[in-house]
Amino acid sequence: MVKRDFETAMVSMGSRGFKSKSAKADMDNGAILTNISTISKTNTVIIGNGPSALALSYLLHGNEPWYSPSEPHPDPVLHRKLLKKFGLSPLSDSQQDVRLYDILRTPKDCNDITSHFPASVSMSYSTAALPLNTLLDTLFRPLVDVDMEESMSRVGWRKTDSDVVPHVILGEEPKAGGQWAGDEVWFGDEDDEESDNGLKTLSYADLLSLPGYSLGDHYKQKYHTDMDPYYRPTRRLVAEYYATYPRKVGIEDVLFPGTSVTNVERINDKSGFNFLVSIKLKSNSGSTSHEAHVIRCRNVVLGTGIFSHRIPPPPVFTPFFKRKLDLELKERTWDNSSAPTNTSKTAQLPLLVVGSGYTAADAILCNQGKRPIVHVYRWDPENRPSPLRGCHPQAYPGYAGVYRQMKDAVFKKQSPTDGIYQGFPNAVVAETRGDGMVTLSIKSEDGTNKETAIRVADIEVCIGRRGRLDYLAPDLCEEIGVQNLDYSNMESLNNTRESPSPLALSRTATSSRRYSSRSRKPMLHPTTSDTAGKVWVRCSSLRERVEQNIEVTANVFIIGSLTGDSLVRFAMGGCVYSAGRIISDNTPIIDSSDSSTMMSETSSMSESEDPQKLSEGKARRRKSKCVVV
Ligand SMILES: Cc1cc2nc3c(=O)[nH]c(=O)nc-3n(C[C@H](O)[C@H](O)[C@H](O)COP(=O)(O)OP(=O)(O)OC[C@H]3O[C@@H](n4cnc5c(N)ncnc54)[C@H](O)[C@@H]3O)c2cc1C
Repeated sequence: MVKRDFETAMVSMGSRGFKSKSAKADMDNGAILTNISTISKTNTVIIGNGPSALALSYLLHGNEPWYSPSEPHPDPVLHRKLLKKFGLSPLSDSQQDVRLYDILRTPKDCNDITSHFPASVSMSYSTAALPLNTLLDTLFRPLVDVDMEESMSRVGWRKTDSDVVPHVILGEEPKAGGQWAGDEVWFGDEDDEESDNGLKTLSYADLLSLPGYSLGDHYKQKYHTDMDPYYRPTRRLVAEYYATYPRKVGIEDVLFPGTSVTNVERINDKSGFNFLVSIKLKSNSGSTSHEAHVIRCRNVVLGTGIFSHRIPPPPVFTPFFKRKLDLELKERTWDNSSAPTNTSKTAQLPLLVVGSGYTAADAILCNQGKRPIVHVYRWDPENRPSPLRGCHPQAYPGYAGVYRQMKDAVFKKQSPTDGIYQGFPNAVVAETRGDGMVTLSIKSEDGTNKETAIRVADIEVCIGRRGRLDYLAPDLCEEIGVQNLDYSNMESLNNTRESPSPLALSRTATSSRRYSSRSRKPMLHPTTSDTAGKVWVRCSSLRERVEQNIEVTANVFIIGSLTGDSLVRFAMGGCVYSAGRIISDNTPIIDSSDSSTMMSETSSMSESEDPQKLSEGKARRRKSKCVVV
């Protein structure tokens, strides 16, 4: 098997904490080297290579989930319903296993099985998650919130060739794992690996596991000892686990990391391959996309998540970031000897962190002890409490510590971190300048506003993350009912003076940019020419649609955090339902232009049907209807 070398792409990012991982992990991005441009048709394209995409691929590789009544689920009502749905009697058929695809054929099936959840007396089911996701969660981990050690899966796996569906996983990140593989998640320093600095996962390890090879299996293989059920792993370990997973369960053949989907559109084609998926490959060395290619498929699965992009900093930060960008570009054009280095004076200047959530806390934890921190955040415990408030000091010492510092600053209490951490609750960033000067407007007790100027070395604006669906053609966006986001809801408006119009936001120097982990060069998220703006999505954006059906429109499925349930433990519902639908629809289609080819199989391009040309022709005819920012 050929491994790609991504070591160069993972160089140290210093205080931001994006340090290079072990050479072995860098070498293994979980995929085998196949040229995507040799693939022109396949049954299903999964977009995004996060945990849900990997789980779905496991199913489409012919691993069938079965409910085995010999170990009944602890909820007797659920147990009865599962058997009844399959036409079995709990009394006489208690040994016959039930294939989950057969009892979850339609949204109504799911409603029938889960209708008692809200009123259940024997179990306490999540009312926040989709019933479908709650159902699969409780089948895989019954009573896990009550007793993790006693929780035993009621789902068994059977391998079958008849359920194998040709598919590919296309993901921007250079490794399997989605956001866990990207540079948008803080990892902490390599030497903080086992420290309690807060950069451990929010979930216990087992709740991040995927079928076939669990995080516990990975832990055992790595440390040669069993994992504690209440272990919370470091983010680095989770990233490594997801990167290793495809090879361990044998799905690496369909994985294409470093592949950006730039356009998905529906066409009318009697062969049934009704989607054109345009992609661009990223070069190994960095960020720029090159080499366009189009794949035709019958089903599209959207697994691109809701955390792929940080909300861009509002325009008040533009002078600072523009200057920073200019300096970085200049530095890159000079040789090392003449490049300006941080003077000791600059190194002592604080980092300004804006925001009150987990990402802001991550930024603080990653920098604490290395340089002073100035923290500007909203403090409104009555109406919009920080999510950090719910972090118990024993379970999440890092986050609880940051919350305590924020609270101490509100009540002007002495704190052991005075001098290292300075909190400004409800202050507003009134101005930033290229030389690092920042003006804060602070409301004093008598209600008047006081302005304070400070000089900072760097700024982290952590006001939330969103996903983007720019890659869907406007017609498809409309068909799916994507609700584009309104910026008026953003936290930034509380902490910055301006109320920028969405258009102004998208025009700021940093607004639409992400940074490659290697070069920190700004790069544009691929955007189709028709969808010139950005289609931002959050947990609620597709929620109403997926509540009706995971298949939001014919042959388009939503999985993972895009469903609105962001935790990995809730990913299996959408995956099992989508897999069942895709598998039941996987009848081979004979291509009229070549009757010897089984078109349901991944195949190479035929010149007469060059999808690139089809796509171009269609694009010219299409009118832009999508709501864009
Ligand atoms: C800081 C942080 C900590 C978290 N901690 C936990 C935790 O402890 N436990 C837990 O259960 N969940 C946690 N989550 C929630 C997280 O949503 C899930 O862990 C999980 O990653 C969701 O998986 P997903 O399959 O939806 O895809 P994601 O992991 O969101 O990955 C989607 C991928 O699609 C890619 N993509 C986007 N657009 C395109 C395109 N056009 N072409 C190709 N690829 C594209 C993105 O770059 C991204 O890599 C955390 C989230 C964050 C932000």
